[in-house]
Amino acid sequence: MIVYTVTGTVGQAGYLDIANSGDITGKNIYVNMTNRCPCNCVFCLRQTKKMMEGNTLWLKGGDPSVDQVMEIFDAYDLNVINELIFCGYGEPLERLYDVCSVIDKLKAKYPNLKVRLNTNGLANLIHGKDITPELEGRFDTVSISLNAPDAEEFLALTRSKFGIKSYDALKEFAVLAKAHVKNVVMTVVEKVMPEEKIEICRKLCEELGVTLRVRPFES
Ligand code: SF4
Repeated sequence: MIVYTVTGTVGQAGYLDIANSGDITGKNIYVNMTNRCPCNCVFCLRQTKKMMEGNTLWLKGGDPSVDQVMEIFDAYDLNVINELIFCGYGEPLERLYDVCSVIDKLKAKYPNLKVRLNTNGLANLIHGKDITPELEGRFDTVSISLNAPDAEEFLALTRSKFGIKSYDALKEFAVLAKAHVKNVVMTVVEKVMPEEKIEICRKLCEELGVTLRVRPFES
């Protein structure tokens, strides 16, 4: 499933292909362009073999081309939606240039389209350089999964292939992104993280000058 809406509780039967989503007026539309990710998070849906085989978000045919993604959008009027969100089963910025190409084509048609990125914040490690200038003019919001109050816990949870330097790279990514994107947010999940650790994350976000969003826990 490449383009979809989310209804009800995420992680349950909440994902609906855009073709089955009915009237998309006012809805958030999600774009899933890759299965690839440098992490292997202990909580990721990808960890469950059943989910990988049965979940409709797993791109069984491999990553779709830019043209394939655009063909899906051709059937819809995106003037009516709330927000377009690049997230997916993997890390969207693994396909940085293809994601940018899709956004550029859509923005040529819908200049006021609101676009958000949900990311693990490791794109500069993935690409070996600062890619945050590419976000400018394309994303209105960048939402980074902070997940943990320190580097050790972050690595234990995400099992990032980049190792212990991942957490510092994520923080640096957030600060660099602020120069190019109006709204940079970091997220943690309530209940999954104890209140005292959420406080540490809140202070960290204050220091970095970004907003912390505590996402509701959905079982
Ligand atoms: S960063 Fe996201 S997609 Fe990647 S393993 Fe973690 S939860 Fe899964």
